[in-house]
Amino acid sequence: MSLNDAIALAKSLCHEECMDLLLMQDPAAAKIPDDSFRYYTESSIRMGKEAANALLTSCGARPGHIGMEIWARLCAEACGVRVQCVKENSDRGFGLEIAANTVFEQGTCTVVLNEDLISEKYECTKEIPEIGESGVDQMLSLHLAHEYFHCLEYLKNGRVYRLLKPARKAGFLGIRECRIRAASEIAAHTFANEVMKSAVPPPVIDYLTMLRRGELSPEVLEELVTNMRRKREKVTRPAAVEFAM
Ligand SMILES: [Zn+2]
Repeated sequence: MSLNDAIALAKSLCHEECMDLLLMQDPAAAKIPDDSFRYYTESSIRMGKEAANALLTSCGARPGHIGMEIWARLCAEACGVRVQCVKENSDRGFGLEIAANTVFEQGTCTVVLNEDLISEKYECTKEIPEIGESGVDQMLSLHLAHEYFHCLEYLKNGRVYRLLKPARKAGFLGIRECRIRAASEIAAHTFANEVMKSAVPPPVIDYLTMLRRGELSPEVLEELVTNMRRKREKVTRPAAVEFAM
């Protein structure tokens, strides 16, 4: 598969498909039985949407119209959320390859946005007209929105992956339970997507950036997408109908 085909494939992904891809990359994904696969994506998407609606209602903003200034105010009001912008060559020593992350410490959250990496993600996706027109500021806001959701999880709502049932799978040593951490990522991406009205699902921005930086090969993306689409078909296929003869 050529780079251009892989870019087209990434752009063809809908939000739900991206969320299924995230779920399949969870280290515990193999422990999720097929009949509860939908439960994790659907519940996490629902929780991300509910938090987005609550935020939009409380601040009276229209989706897609929350810029860095409004985010700064929202973070200040959320009691305990600080935002720090760093450069790639900053000597803080963390976040070199991470565009945004949050440090949780004793009831406070520090969101760290790596301006250089976020600008690079903008450069790698600005051919998409809505992204090109809305500028780097909107890309920063999209990343801040994602991290803001994690702050809400920490300060107020509880971690999505802890609120959902653990995956249970029968194994050699009996039933094993494990938490599906990707659930929090799915909810955070959905939240950011809803409040920022992103032109493409947020993970597509990551795929396009990684493809262009040579960090994701077209073949690997193709394989991930093929497996995900196969899985979606399998978990949504209605159970076999038995006819009484
Ligand atoms: Zn996250």
